Amino acid sequence: MKYMSVAVDGPAGSGKSTITKMVAEKLGYNYVDTGAMYRALTFNFLKNGLNELNEEKIKFLLSNLKFNVKFIDRKQHVYINEEDVSEKIRTAEVSKFTSLFAKSPAVREFLIDTQRNLAESNNIIMDGRDIASVVLPNADVKIFLTASVEERARRRVLDFENQGLTNVDYEKVKEEIKARDYQDENRDIAPLIKVESAILIDTTSLTIDQVVDEMIKLIKCKENF
Ligand code: C5P
Repeated sequence: MKYMSVAVDGPAGSGKSTITKMVAEKLGYNYVDTGAMYRALTFNFLKNGLNELNEEKIKFLLSNLKFNVKFIDRKQHVYINEEDVSEKIRTAEVSKFTSLFAKSPAVREFLIDTQRNLAESNNIIMDGRDIASVVLPNADVKIFLTASVEERARRRVLDFENQGLTNVDYEKVKEEIKARDYQDENRDIAPLIKVESAILIDTTSLTIDQVVDEMIKLIKCKENF
């Protein structure tokens, strides 16, 4: 049986995960969050005292860990050595170091099969930076979500405030987003790019529901083929 695959790429704060999750729920697809996989490996490296890009040490740590992704009630859980780290990977420190370790060829190679395999056994919508360009170049639908850096920073500040954090510095958040954009767009392997066949959606002045509706329309068109 051929399953539907939808690739969603875009920079940090473009609304990818929120929107992709909602689209997946409405269509009954699995939402595959590849960023969580990069975060989980980063969490493990930091836990083992590695905070610099050292390919030999990365390879050593990768060869000694057990990595697993499972879907429970359609929700993705990431395990390192049988421990569910899905919640622990959402810290500012992990965010900062993930863009660094995501440059490692060993890290990218380690994750690609897991990501591709997940698209073989279910209808999926997968988000990340290199999904349409590298992981699933034959995806049925390819979408590139973006928004201005100011709007993305504003959304991140709101997220932090909703988590109960006060006095979040907007300018600092904006600079961190810019730094991550730079690392993701300029790395040698699998940089963040919009492939020609991807549909661009600029979410700067759109509501979440508008983007969700637009994406569902695009996917439904392909489902009927
Ligand atoms: O999407 P999220 O912000 O959780 O991703 C964290 C980081 O993981 C990104 O900034 C990027 O450096 C890296 N990443 C990647 N390729 C992907 C998904 C995430 O390089 N497919």
